[in-house]
Amino acid sequence: MNIELLYQIFRQYPIITTNSRICPTNSLFFALRGEKFDGNDYIMEALMSGAIYAVGDRNDLPENERIIKVGNVLQTLQSLANYHRKLMNAKIIAITGTNGKTTTKELIATVLSSKYKTLYTQENLNNYIGVPLTLLRLNSEHQFAVIEMGASHVNEIRMLCQIAEPDYGIITNVGKAHLEGFGSLDGVVKAKTELYDFIRDKGGVVFANLDNLILKEWYNSFSVIYYGTTSKAFVYGRMIGFDPTLVLEWSKNSNKNKIVTHFVGGYNLENILASICVANYFGVEDYRINVVIANYIPINNRSQNCKTKKNNLIVDAYNANPDSMRVALDNFYKLRISPKMVILGEMGELGSYSKEEHQKVLNSLWGSKVDKVFLIGRNFEECLLPCSGWKLFRQTEDCLEYLRMTSVEGYHILIKGSRNNQLEKIFHYL
Ligand code: ATP
Ligand code: MG
Repeated sequence: MNIELLYQIFRQYPIITTNSRICPTNSLFFALRGEKFDGNDYIMEALMSGAIYAVGDRNDLPENERIIKVGNVLQTLQSLANYHRKLMNAKIIAITGTNGKTTTKELIATVLSSKYKTLYTQENLNNYIGVPLTLLRLNSEHQFAVIEMGASHVNEIRMLCQIAEPDYGIITNVGKAHLEGFGSLDGVVKAKTELYDFIRDKGGVVFANLDNLILKEWYNSFSVIYYGTTSKAFVYGRMIGFDPTLVLEWSKNSNKNKIVTHFVGGYNLENILASICVANYFGVEDYRINVVIANYIPINNRSQNCKTKKNNLIVDAYNANPDSMRVALDNFYKLRISPKMVILGEMGELGSYSKEEHQKVLNSLWGSKVDKVFLIGRNFEECLLPCSGWKLFRQTEDCLEYLRMTSVEGYHILIKGSRNNQLEKIFHYL
């Protein structure tokens, strides 16, 4: 079936599902293939549980007027999303970068939503499936769409840009993450700046951090609106307090605004300034910006400060890579609180850089004034432990076992690690 015809069906039945167990009435089921499953196997189940049509791509699918056969379901979903996007009026803002994409996306979307009808990526649905699904939620009332784009290989951002065709772009920063896929930091830069290439070719606008030295050389080639910590930027700001949550001051001219945030971590300053810059550019008033950011509560174990009966937890356990680990630790060292403890889970996907990067973490801890250290994961086991008093656990379950027997009380605890450690399991015992 060609895309125009499929689009007619989509306009009539605009709810898309890719999960045969969640098929709202009259939804369109797209039978995607994953590593462990083939959506084509679940087409009949989807049709019986609410889907009006199913889009599949296997030759042996039965002849059925409610089954739409296409060459490739994923590509069809992406083409449909692009077709739809072209017909919608919303301005599309794409966000990529190594760290802070979701935080910046949530902040920009929340601030823009205070004035405009804004659609945005749900949670972390930032890949070749999540981006088209987000675009397909656009309707004619939306004025903005804030789309997070993640990548672990070169060419992924280019492909996502071809689907979303963003008018505006932000690269939050570039650093060491997914080095297995990118090969090196240069690989990361090449992959992320595919967004800049697209925006330049389209004649769009980039919002950029003037303090970012790695990306600076790209900034001459297109329209850039800057944020940063110096008054040369359109919106600039600085941290005026961080114990434990971030207090900042920002300006775009002589007027100074102060915001007391719920974020732990000075590194969130750049995420917040990015959102203030975008909001200002699109005419959101200062008072709205200040209120929205002051009230914004970080979610999903990112940059959160929470008191339990026994301890004060600084939860940054959503994910970790060498750069985010370094900034989280540096921030923690600076806090004027004691006694301090860290519980760190290993970092994933670092390939041949793994041992060196884990050793750097341990060396930094060794020079710090942290009183108690728990390390979780085999990648830490392979390093030289500079201090015999630190506890090393092979996996989170082992740490849990220990915490069930031994109470940890009266500490300020930074909890940080890659997603696969599932560090949230230990909160209950702290
Ligand atoms: P993912 O690649 O998983 O989608 P992300 O880029 O969306 O991650 P966030 O989810 O916003 O990033 O934040 C994840 C973690 O990255 C935070 O908990 C924090 O430790 C760190 N982080 C957030 N912003 C920054 C920043 N500007 N610089 C360095 N580290 C940051
Ligand atoms: Mg994210």
